[in-house]
Amino acid sequence: MNVLVINAGSSSLKYQLINLETKHILAKGICERVGSAEAFHKHGLDENERVIDAEMRDHDDAMALVLEALTSGPTKAVDSLDEIDAVGHRIVQGGWYFDRSVLIDDDVIAKIDELAELAPLHNKAALMGIHACQKHMPSTPMVAVFDTSFFQSLPPKAYMYPLPYELYEKYHIRKYGAHGTSHRYISERAAAVLGEPLDELKLITCHLGNGCSMSAIDHGVAVDTSMGLTPLDGLMMGTRCGAIDPAIVPYIMDKEGLDAAGVNDLMNKQSGLLGISGISNDLRSVRDASEKGDERAMLAYDMYSNSVKKYIGQYMAVMGGVDAIVLTAGVGENCEKMRRMIFAGLQPLGIVLDEAKNRQRGFEREISSDSSKVKVIIIPTNEEYMIARDTYDIVHEHSQIVPVSHAE
Ligand code: ADP
Repeated sequence: MNVLVINAGSSSLKYQLINLETKHILAKGICERVGSAEAFHKHGLDENERVIDAEMRDHDDAMALVLEALTSGPTKAVDSLDEIDAVGHRIVQGGWYFDRSVLIDDDVIAKIDELAELAPLHNKAALMGIHACQKHMPSTPMVAVFDTSFFQSLPPKAYMYPLPYELYEKYHIRKYGAHGTSHRYISERAAAVLGEPLDELKLITCHLGNGCSMSAIDHGVAVDTSMGLTPLDGLMMGTRCGAIDPAIVPYIMDKEGLDAAGVNDLMNKQSGLLGISGISNDLRSVRDASEKGDERAMLAYDMYSNSVKKYIGQYMAVMGGVDAIVLTAGVGENCEKMRRMIFAGLQPLGIVLDEAKNRQRGFEREISSDSSKVKVIIIPTNEEYMIARDTYDIVHEHSQIVPVSHAE
């Protein structure tokens, strides 16, 4: 079965065509700057990637180009659209409606639209992707996979904010989390690497990319996570500030003469590694500058690692201990220096890194020392595979395709 995974942003459309039986990626690409004169389409695997200048007025145009690239010419991955059995859509906000992935129908579309209030740019973009697929592949089943659904298991004490209760009732203000598909994937893979059932483990999962989030997964169930009503909460990130004293917000608005949109932009786009270092949101540039003695870069590095360290402590307390800490995404997978700083001084908590293993790259592995009570594991994330797998499972439930085994 071939599943087309679609991740639609407000001006982009990312996709992968995955064969579920072989787990091979047949094709992938991205349409960027959709709707502008500079729109372009990148298609192909690794060294075969081609950049195609193309006119894309909207997501409909982009989808038509993607399907053409998948089925014809030198970029072709399948003979016809009939060989695309289902489409899986990544949706950012599933709110209180969706605690799992679902087959898309009119009711699901209406709910994604209603939830756009909580994630205006993201859910509206996903809807454009869904409508474009409906237009070009009207009889192909589609599944919605939500970033938030993994965290619908949080208990009220974790998802409620200590604000007047009426605000929760009126506006659904609560923690929803994000990156759920990644946390779910890496927790499953970590259990496989450890050779133990997920439902017997206490895990802390860390998705450290441009956006950063952590979660506490107790016996396979997410019990807390660092992102909140929006992905601005929690850890310090590339350009987002994460958790700060909320009273700073009106204070900055007053002092800098900013309105709500202005302060929102400041906290989402001008803060984090970029805001502190004044150099970049990219950890590599901040690391290079810190190694040359740039004090603000060093401070940014220190603050970032400290922010992760504090959540490790919180989540160990929440779960009454931890068996393994799992790291993923650009920083988590690749930055040995950041990992060293995060885990420095945690020996009294039973967490000890193996320096040689910490220097290795690029595959699923343990990087804690043999004597470490708590295992530290790197799992390269694969959200697209997870979306394809959910899509396969749900489409199978609704038809009678023989399921492939997910066991490795
Ligand atoms: P996104 O959230 O956009 O998917 P990624 O998971 O790609 O982000 O992570 C991007 C971050 O990972 C950037 O800060 C980048 O500097 C960092 N990163 C990627 N490779 C390395 C590396 N080899 N060493 C240090 N940091 C890295």
